[in-house]
Amino acid sequence: MQVNKFLKKIKFGLHLDPKIERIKNHRKFIPSGSKAVLIIYADFELGWAWRYSKTAENGTEHANSLGLKERGNIPAILDACDEFGIPVTWATVGHLFLDSCSKRESIPHPNIKRLGHFDNPFWRYSEGDWFDADPCSDYKTSPGWYCPDLIDNIISRKAGHEIGCHTFSHIDCTDALCPPDVFDSEIAECRRLAHEKGVELKSFVHPAHTIGNLDGLIKHGFTSYRTDYDNILGYPEKYKNKLWQIKSTWEFVLFREWSRKYHIRRYIEILRRAIKNESVCVLWFHPSMDIEFFETVFPEVCKYILDNSRDLHITTAGAYTEFLENNGL
Ligand SMILES: [Zn+2]
Ligand SMILES: [Zn+2]
Repeated sequence: MQVNKFLKKIKFGLHLDPKIERIKNHRKFIPSGSKAVLIIYADFELGWAWRYSKTAENGTEHANSLGLKERGNIPAILDACDEFGIPVTWATVGHLFLDSCSKRESIPHPNIKRLGHFDNPFWRYSEGDWFDADPCSDYKTSPGWYCPDLIDNIISRKAGHEIGCHTFSHIDCTDALCPPDVFDSEIAECRRLAHEKGVELKSFVHPAHTIGNLDGLIKHGFTSYRTDYDNILGYPEKYKNKLWQIKSTWEFVLFREWSRKYHIRRYIEILRRAIKNESVCVLWFHPSMDIEFFETVFPEVCKYILDNSRDLHITTAGAYTEFLENNGL
């Protein structure tokens, strides 16, 4: 583990990571007057992401505690975003929109079609029903599984956040495991619930980057999805119609092997390289990470972003794909 973190430092120091992509018409991807584009995503999921985690011993309990931790962190993240004028694209699990839910004929969400049991690199779902962890109660009784209050809070903030989609129940979306009718039922429910809050979902993030069902995204009107095939400072690529692939540059993480100072230096250096190379920089994070990150590293990075806002065009995934379409790309 330590060797791995050391190698990461070396590769970064040698400018091998993130990879710099070069294309001929790169200026068309950057608004005139700016030198680089910055998009920051939060994968917003409360307990839903961790139920079948291969690393957790007690799936539901562990998931619930991470959900509560995430809940606790979000007001501080939103305050920092307002202070520095940073809009975030919140890839939101659809179940979080609900005030409450209950079983119908002893089944949670019977309108949502289920995946079969599966094993992927991150999760093992080998028995029971996909919604077994669903408390089927309400956001006050089970705050780790619903958060209409936080979604309202995000929407009301002056930073200008975007609410995106992360499926209804954090499913594996790969074509091998997720038939189109399952994907459809998940996404239709997300769209219905978002619509009730006046939100139109445009930006998608596949849970654990289980890329698939791309034609389903087009059908439901999405304009982008994020990939994480590598750490890239580059440019989006059009999949088909108006659907863009947005490539991740780096995930905000807090490694215990690295000092706080090094974390800050590293993120700022990524942004410097984005400006120098005129690239699109895509950062993402789990709001459930240790609050220490948001108290120590995040404000320093935000300060750099604010100080360099002439060069750095900070936007959301939805606004950026709109810019690409308007720019004839
Ligand atoms: Zn439910
Ligand atoms: Zn996720």
